[in-house]
Amino acid sequence: MTEQAFADVAPKRCGQPPLVTCTGVGKTWETDGEPFVALRDIDLEVARGEFVVFLGPSGCGKSTLLFLMAGLEQATEGRIVCGGAEVHAPGTDRGLVFQEASLYPWLTVGENVTFGLKMQHVPKDRRRQVAQEILERVGLSEAIDKRPDQLSGGMRQRAAVARALALKPEILLLDEPFAALDVQTRARMQDFLIQVWRQAGVSMVFVTHHIDEAIALADRIVVFTARPGRIKTIIPVDMPRPRDSRSPAFHALADRLTDLLRDEVDRAFAEQERIK
Ligand code: ADP
Ligand code: MG
Repeated sequence: MTEQAFADVAPKRCGQPPLVTCTGVGKTWETDGEPFVALRDIDLEVARGEFVVFLGPSGCGKSTLLFLMAGLEQATEGRIVCGGAEVHAPGTDRGLVFQEASLYPWLTVGENVTFGLKMQHVPKDRRRQVAQEILERVGLSEAIDKRPDQLSGGMRQRAAVARALALKPEILLLDEPFAALDVQTRARMQDFLIQVWRQAGVSMVFVTHHIDEAIALADRIVVFTARPGRIKTIIPVDMPRPRDSRSPAFHALADRLTDLLRDEVDRAFAEQERIK
C-alpha cells in the first residue's frame, strides 16, 4: 500500500510493528457435543492507528473474531498478539463497544463513562474530571448527570464510545455499534467516530454488514467468506475523508464489494435455510 493512500489518515503510524497480529486463528464452537467451525486460518495485522472494518454476511464469524481479539473468548487454533502480549483475557488496552449500548441504567452518564476507573480505585473528583473531558470530546458534556434512558439512541452510543475511551485503550473493538440507529443518525455517528479516531489516535476494528458503512470508515476492508469464516480478500480504501457516497469512486467500490459478497451471502443464506 502506498504512503499516499494514508495521506489523510493522521493517526496511522507507518513503519511501526503492528498493534495486533492474528496468526492462523481459528475457532470451533462445541454445540451439543458437535464441533462447529466458525472461523478458520485468519492471518491479519492491524497497524497502530489504523481503521480496519470487518465486512461479511451474517453468521460468518465477524463477532467471533472480534470477541477473540477482545479476549472474551479463546481461539481454538493459532494466536492473537496485541501490543506484544498474547491475548487470553480482556484488558484495558482494548475498549469494546456493542450494538446495544451496554450502559448501566441506574448510573448517570458520567458514572457510566468512568465505571472502569472506579474499578481501578481512581478517586471520585478525578473521575468526574475525566468524565467531563471525555464527554466534551464526544459532544455530550450536557448529559453528564443524565440517566441513559434520557438520551437518544445516538447519544447512548456516543456515551458507550466515551466509556470505552476512558481507560485510554490502544484499540477500540466495535461490533455493529450503529446497527440499531436510523440511517441519518448512523451517518452522523460515522462522522463522529472518524473524529474520535483522529483525536484519540487509537486503532479501530469495526464490524458491519453494511457496504456503505465499511467504505465510509475504513482504511482497509477485510471481506469474509460465509461460514466457516475466512478472509476472502482485504481491500484498501484509497479515498480522502469525508467520503462522498455519491462519488463515482464510492460507487465503484460499492459495486466491487457487492460482487465479492454476493456468493458469500448466497452461501450463508442457503446454510441458514438448511439449519431450519
Ligand atoms: P457474525 O458476527 O459474522 O454474524 P458470529 O461470529 O456471531 O457471526 O457467529 C459465527 C457462527 O458461530 C454462527 O454460526 C454462530 O451461530 C456461531 N456462534 C457464535 N457464538 C457462538 C457460541 N457462543 N456458541 C456456539 N456457536 C456460536
Ligand atoms: Mg455479529
